Amino acid sequence: MQHNLARARAGARGAKVWAVVKANAYGHGLERAMRGFAEADGLALVEVDYAVRLRELGWSKPILLLEGFFDASDLPVMAQYDLNGSVHCEEQIAMLAAAQLSHPIDVHLKMNTGMNRLGFTPAAVAGAYARLRAMPHIGMITVMTHFANADEAGPTRLPLAQQMLRFEAGVASIGAAGEGTRLPRSLCNSAGVLMHHLDSDWVRPGIMLYGGTPSGAPGGTSAQTFGLLPTMTLRSSIIGIQDIAAGEVVGYGSRYQAAGNVKVGVVACGYADGYPRHAPEGTPVLVDGVRTGLIGRVSMDMLMVDLTHVPGAKVGSSVTLWGQGMPIDEVALAAGTIGYELMCALAPRVPVNEA
Ligand SMILES: *Cc1c(COP(=O)(O)O)cnc(C)c1O
Repeated sequence: MQHNLARARAGARGAKVWAVVKANAYGHGLERAMRGFAEADGLALVEVDYAVRLRELGWSKPILLLEGFFDASDLPVMAQYDLNGSVHCEEQIAMLAAAQLSHPIDVHLKMNTGMNRLGFTPAAVAGAYARLRAMPHIGMITVMTHFANADEAGPTRLPLAQQMLRFEAGVASIGAAGEGTRLPRSLCNSAGVLMHHLDSDWVRPGIMLYGGTPSGAPGGTSAQTFGLLPTMTLRSSIIGIQDIAAGEVVGYGSRYQAAGNVKVGVVACGYADGYPRHAPEGTPVLVDGVRTGLIGRVSMDMLMVDLTHVPGAKVGSSVTLWGQGMPIDEVALAAGTIGYELMCALAPRVPVNEA
C-alpha cells in the first residue's frame, strides 16, 4: 500500500492525494488501509459511518465523503467529525441551507461534465456555488469532476479533453473576476493519475493503491507495467483430489466432462468467499506456483482445478486464486469482470493474515 501510494504521488504532479478507501478499502479493511495510507493527505470514501470510524481510529487528516451526505441527519455528524463532503445536487443545497451546524464544513462542489451520473451541469454550477458561498457554515469550496474514460487509450464517446473543456467553462462562470478559476480542483481517479498529465490540487486514486489497473480491457497496460504491487492475495489449498477417466464429469450441472484421464484438485474456496461463480473453465489459478485452470462450476465453498499437468500436486498444495503471482486483472478478465469487483466482494469469512 505504501509503495502504490508513493507511485500515485509520483503521478500526481504535486497534487495532494486523497487515498480512496470506500467499500471497506476495496475489500482490504478500513483499519489496515488507514495504516497503509498513513502518508496520504486525506482519505476519501462514501460511507458516513465508516468515516466516523476513521476518526475514532485516530485519523486526524482530512476525510472526504465522495457522494456527500445522504440525509440531513448526516450534516451534524459531518460538522462534529470534521468530514468534507461533495455537494452534487439541489436537494443537498436545500438541506445545507436549512441546517444549523456547530462547525463549518468544507465541500467539494461536483460538476457533471458529461458522465451524467452526479453533479451540477456547467450551466448550473455558478448558481450552486453562489448559494453555498453565501452560507456561513460552508468553509472551503473545491471544484470537482469525475472522468468517464480516463482509462481509454483509443477514441471514446466522451473524450477526457471534452470533459475538461466543459469543466473549464463551468469554472470560468463561477463568481466574478475569475474567482472560479482560483478555486482548488479535484480531478483524477487512478486512470487519470496513471494515463493523463493534468494539473490539479487533489487527486483521488483508488484501484491503483490496491495494485489493480483501472483498465479492465484486454491488452490494456498491466498493473505491473504501471509499477504497482498487489496488496491482496487470495490463497487457499487443495483439500481433495479425484483421478477421473474420460467421460467422467465434474461438479454441479456436470458442466465439465473429461476428454481423457484428468487429475482434479478440489480447492477450499468458493463464491461464499468472494470468488466469482461465473468464472468460466480455464480461468487461471496457481497451484504450487504452476499456472493451471478452473474446471466445472464454482460452488459455494469449493472450486475445482485441473492438476493433470501440475507435477507433485497433492492435498495440502498451496493455491493462489489472485494476487502475488496471479494478477487479479487476469482473473477478472477471464471471469468477465474487473479487479475492483473481485476485491470488493471478498467475503467476511475469509481469514486475513497481514504480510
Ligand atoms: C471511487 C472513486 C474514485 C477512485 O476511482 P479508482 O478508479 O478506483 O481510482 C475517485 N473518485 C470518485 C468520485 C470515486 O467515486
